[in-house]
Amino acid sequence: MERYIVHPEADQDSGPYWQSLKEHQAKLQKCGKCGKLRFPPGPSCYYCGTLGGSWEPISGKGVIYTWSVIHHPVDKRLSGEVPFTVAMVDLDEGPRVVGRLVNADKAKIKAGMKVKARYEDLDQELTLMYFEPA
Ligand SMILES: [Zn+2]
Repeated sequence: MERYIVHPEADQDSGPYWQSLKEHQAKLQKCGKCGKLRFPPGPSCYYCGTLGGSWEPISGKGVIYTWSVIHHPVDKRLSGEVPFTVAMVDLDEGPRVVGRLVNADKAKIKAGMKVKARYEDLDQELTLMYFEPA
């Protein structure tokens, strides 16, 4: 069964993020005024409103905030992939991101569990940040 892949539409705000995943070194936007990192990418800081900023590499390390095991595919094209786990991860650098959690014993997943990024090349164009136990 061919894997079903939805490609995000990279724009001027999110393009550098998707490119950093392709390079297996995730980067997030950093505010030039208050210094906070933000996610998802956007034109201005979510904390102080300052426009722009720089792109900073992140460790990819964090802890699980919450998670869900998907048993019912929301789209029949995902039917070959269930069950899979999606986690919200609080990165060590601050922002909360979402990604699949792989290589984890589902019975042992818990909030606060340490995880690390794992870059998953879905095809030539798209890499996603998954997580696995650290
Ligand atoms: Zn700011």
